Amino acid sequence: MSINKITTAAVQAGINIDPHHGAVVAPIYLSSTYSLKGFNDKREFDYSRTGNPTRATFAQAIATLEQGSVGIVTSTGMAAVHLICQLLSTDDLVVIPHDCYGGSFRLFTHLAKRGQFKLIVVDQNDQKALAKALAQKPKLVLLESPSNPLLRLVDIEQVTKACHKVGALVAVDNTFLSPALQQPLLLGADIVFHSTTKYINGHSDVVGGVVVTKEQALGEELAWWANCIGITGSAFDSFLALRGLKTLPIRIKQHQENAEKVAAFLKNHTAIDVVYYPGFTDHPGHDIAKKQQSGFGAMLSFEITGGVNAVKKLFDNLSLFTLAQSLGGVESLISHPPTMTHAGMEEAARLEAGITDSLVRISVGIEAIEDILADLAHGLEQSQIA
Ligand code: PLP
Repeated sequence: MSINKITTAAVQAGINIDPHHGAVVAPIYLSSTYSLKGFNDKREFDYSRTGNPTRATFAQAIATLEQGSVGIVTSTGMAAVHLICQLLSTDDLVVIPHDCYGGSFRLFTHLAKRGQFKLIVVDQNDQKALAKALAQKPKLVLLESPSNPLLRLVDIEQVTKACHKVGALVAVDNTFLSPALQQPLLLGADIVFHSTTKYINGHSDVVGGVVVTKEQALGEELAWWANCIGITGSAFDSFLALRGLKTLPIRIKQHQENAEKVAAFLKNHTAIDVVYYPGFTDHPGHDIAKKQQSGFGAMLSFEITGGVNAVKKLFDNLSLFTLAQSLGGVESLISHPPTMTHAGMEEAARLEAGITDSLVRISVGIEAIEDILADLAHGLEQSQIA
């Protein structure tokens, strides 16, 4: 789907679907339950854990943007990951990337420790290690591209082909880009999922998730599990996220424009050792990004000179950037992955994945670029004063 088509589909999602009053915007249905027409004669919805009109409208909108068959809205992004885990039995093998979001890493490693499935954690850019893992015939391979927080990329199409050869399902975390910039199902993946808390809602006032499947049958199986274990999203959150979705393409455009300028500024800064941003031609994933994404996104991370003391001084001297966990909201956020988003990883695994104590992650907001750059310039200058 072209960006123009995505822009129109996002704005039009849920418009003019109210048959009773002609409400232009999709109404919000807060009712937990729905009357039957009569004995054993159900309407489309009967109980909001199972199905809710507002949630269904949002689910359909995301499924359309991701070019999938079924969308399942969950209460959080982690609930979306946990939902996918319901496909696994004790003897099934899962392969996850060694540098995925800390919460996903924690969930998979802890469920595996309890014997819910077998797990291989692998550097998915290490072709030999990945081939060795795939030779063990996993049931599921999780991809996260770009990865949180190091912005590493995997060639989704190529890896998916290798996974399908051994009969594995491929699920891609598309949180960092959103369907406006990447559509993994079109690259062959079976499942795409998001923390809608981030770019899709985009205003830092909802925690939510979504899973979209390419095939109808797989989607129905996951929808059954979502109801069974009770992790479906609320009507109000769905309403807000649908509202946020309408401006997703236009927000992303501004986020990206700012991020490109921030990346260039950081690259030349003496207080910075290295910047991780796929838009740089020397980024190892640059060519993959150009091939499978329609933009480089607005997330980046960097290693600051002076270690954790410099990180602290930087944070103490910023006023526009907010020190906070999340990402993808209109406001600029900054975080320290080792003590925040990836604190759930054991130190050895974290360092092995390349997440050092000097690492800082930025979610570039849509404020005026001169204000963003002035704030960073001031903070970085102060970070180097002894
Ligand atoms: N996936 C990625 C890439 C994330 O960054 C996050 C949260 O930061 C999640 C999944 C989990 O989402 P949530 O916090 O909505 O549960």
